Amino acid sequence: MPDQHAELRFQLDHNVPEQHGGPSTPENLAWACPRCNKHKGPNLAGLDPESGAMTPLFHPCVDVWREHFFPGGVRGLPG
Ligand SMILES: [Zn+2]
Repeated sequence: MPDQHAELRFQLDHNVPEQHGGPSTPENLAWACPRCNKHKGPNLAGLDPESGAMTPLFHPCVDVWREHFFPGGVRGLPG
């Protein structure tokens, strides 16, 4: 969602948090929704609710959305 349509102003966030050694460089910064940013916190991974496996969080500068969230593909959509 573009930030001009957001209820709260977006904020600059570190993809890899400073507490984990993430630098304040353009490659590690993202313009983030405050709610998502607060929810993410300093985490780098989370538990997959279906498999229970420790899973890296989506990194918008490195990961591909479809591959990260739909690794087996999406029915009806081209791979
Ligand atoms: Zn959000």
